[in-house]
Amino acid sequence: MPTFTDKVKRLERIRLALRRRYGDEPRAPVTHPVEHAVRTILAEEATSDAVEKAVEQLRRHFIDWNDLRVSRPREIREVLGATFPRGGYKARVIPRLLDQVFKQHNSMVWDFLETMGKVETRGYFEKLEEVRPFVAATIARDCIGAHAFPVDNDVARVLGRLAIVDPAAQPEADMQRLLERAVKSNRAFGLHRLIKHLAEQSCVVGTPLCGKCPLRRTCPSALRPGKRKARKKAKRTPAAKRKAKKPAKKKVAAKKAKTKAAAKKAKPKNKTTPGRKRAAARKPRRDGRKK
Ligand code: SF4
Repeated sequence: MPTFTDKVKRLERIRLALRRRYGDEPRAPVTHPVEHAVRTILAEEATSDAVEKAVEQLRRHFIDWNDLRVSRPREIREVLGATFPRGGYKARVIPRLLDQVFKQHNSMVWDFLETMGKVETRGYFEKLEEVRPFVAATIARDCIGAHAFPVDNDVARVLGRLAIVDPAAQPEADMQRLLERAVKSNRAFGLHRLIKHLAEQSCVVGTPLCGKCPLRRTCPSALRPGKRKARKKAKRTPAAKRKAKKPAKKKVAAKKAKTKAAAKKAKPKNKTTPGRKRAAARKPRRDGRKK
């Protein structure tokens, strides 16, 4: 079980390895917090291209964000498309978030954030119904500049496979707290972006594409090509064939035993060797007579 210090060191090694592969990404300022919140929810388990396409479809279909707020989840889901990752859940959560904020601040611009502090902003969004901690953390980080490490399903999956967190045992908020302690504030945004990138490129939902992952040599969950081949071979060989191989040894042993027995039978019963015969000829008889 790695200690907290081990995890800090491993996270830094992960950051450096990913930065070598993907490079640094400049941090773009958030000009529209509502759109940013919608994108944050859409981006979970979806590729950047799919998110761009979804935002474009939402813009075309709905008059503005307020129209999206008052729309039915079913309609939003249809606009996102049947294949959009977790479309049903996102279609329910997005209008729910927009509606709760609108009812409290009568705003679809969220300019009230300008007067809120970092802790207050995060706490405000965390208290809203159906808003997950990673959404609150992202808004606080990107709109107010708070130190946060949002953990959505992608980050949890990647860091779970890398044995930094345990998504099966730790709640989302606990994983965020751990990562916010382990990663310095000036590195948190960069590392988070790199992990999201890895989640999209290699460490995908389902079977990860470890062959092209920059962390495959150090990742405890990496699928090694050798192991994969052996597993495939074992799957290909029918169970009956595998079973049939074992008795083959027995057959060889039985054959050997038969050959031995046959050789024994073939030996003459008279064990007098030529050497013994000669010795007997030299031995004088007891009665002194010659043979
Ligand atoms: S080696 Fe495989 S499991 Fe590990 S982080 Fe990379 S893609 Fe994910």
